Amino acid sequence: MPSSDALPPAQLQMQRNLANMRQRIAAACARAGRDPSQVRLLPVSKTVPAEQLRLAYAAGLRTLGENKVQEAYGKWQALSDLPGLRWSIIGHLQSNKARQVAQFADEFQALDSLALAQELDRRLQQHGRSLDVLVQVNTSGEASKFGLPASDVPRFVQQLAPCSALRVRGLMTLAMPSSDPAPVRGCFVQLRQLLQRLQQETALGAQLSELSMGMSGDFEWAIEEGATIVRIGQAIFGARPSA
Ligand SMILES: *Cc1c(COP(=O)(O)O)cnc(C)c1O
Repeated sequence: MPSSDALPPAQLQMQRNLANMRQRIAAACARAGRDPSQVRLLPVSKTVPAEQLRLAYAAGLRTLGENKVQEAYGKWQALSDLPGLRWSIIGHLQSNKARQVAQFADEFQALDSLALAQELDRRLQQHGRSLDVLVQVNTSGEASKFGLPASDVPRFVQQLAPCSALRVRGLMTLAMPSSDPAPVRGCFVQLRQLLQRLQQETALGAQLSELSMGMSGDFEWAIEEGATIVRIGQAIFGARPSA
């Protein structure tokens, strides 16, 4: 067992960040009377080089979130020697990238069109694979955000029923960016209420349980409002170089 001061500084920092994150998740769960095992921490590794992600794997992380397919695909290839490492695509996808996603991803959190769902389903069938998917909802009403308006989601979910390679698990959203908690929480509440409605009103409702909401800057509010997945990048891997 190497002593912890033998670890590279980057790995030590990441382990500290992870421990801190788990503590904050547990505290937010305690405030909301929730069990921390109901909240999955999805580390978002976009812009972090593949070689550095070996440290994340060594620290025990087994699923990584990426918003760009090309980048994720490259890392999947570079890290294919690591057993049990899974990939979650959390960013908008164009139909022409469905082929790649079908090949290697385990989860896709940004489903927002039927044409894309059908293309993913077709490609997945070819590979004999299936994919966990979340429907992305635009809860903030910002034109710059992807995702379906909440009012379109019940019908959309019904239309996904024939896509048998897609396992529809729940909903994902990005909240309004604001330091004022009210509009941010409002987005999370909207997603939670929409999920409840789907559970009651749609045939697929019984298999829907996931609420992916909350990032480094707002995950505590998201947990208090019912998040089951929080997507955390910078608070684990450090600040990203600004684009
Ligand atoms: C980058 C990203 C995150 C994580 O953001 P951080 O601020 O780094 O925690 C979460 N969700 C999506 C869709 C992202 O693109």
